[in-house]
Amino acid sequence: MNRCQKCKKGCGLNLEDINTERSLIIIKPDGVQKRVAGKIISRFEEASLDIEQMKMMEIDKELAKKHYRDHAEKDFFSILLKYICSGPVIVMIVSGPGAVKKARELMGPTDPGKAPPGTIRGDFGRDITVNVVHGSDSPESAEREIGLFFGRV
Ligand code: UDP
Ligand code: MG
Repeated sequence: MNRCQKCKKGCGLNLEDINTERSLIIIKPDGVQKRVAGKIISRFEEASLDIEQMKMMEIDKELAKKHYRDHAEKDFFSILLKYICSGPVIVMIVSGPGAVKKARELMGPTDPGKAPPGTIRGDFGRDITVNVVHGSDSPESAEREIGLFFGRV
């Protein structure tokens, strides 16, 4: 039996469970409109991340403001809200060891112009606003964002 490396008492957790993180991923309205959602989902699967939950929805202004609350003072805030609320999105919880960092690496930098080919934003993004995908920036943000979109899961 795998023993938990934290408590050493055989609580039933294994090493992988301890490292397992969750990240909230959003395929933004441009990704759905351009019909590249399937390709984007495949990138996460091919990187051995598990899809725990997935749904299509439209984000209203209230939810968008909560999700992007850290950017409320930025000059791009209102255009960001307009963009993220402009059409259906696909929201997913992905999980696996180091899921937050792994997902960010798959996505590439915020600005698709700086994102290398082979990254999701490098391949499918348009500009620094319309950049096709969201991924949580830390395990703490992930848990907050998962709560906003999926409740306590
Ligand atoms: N964004 C923008 N202008 C900027 C920076 C960001 O419109 O100069 C948008 C873009 O859609 C980005 C989102 O705001 O994905 C959130 O910005 P953040 O800096 O958190 O980038 P991310 O974590 O998405 O890479
Ligand atoms: Mg961010």
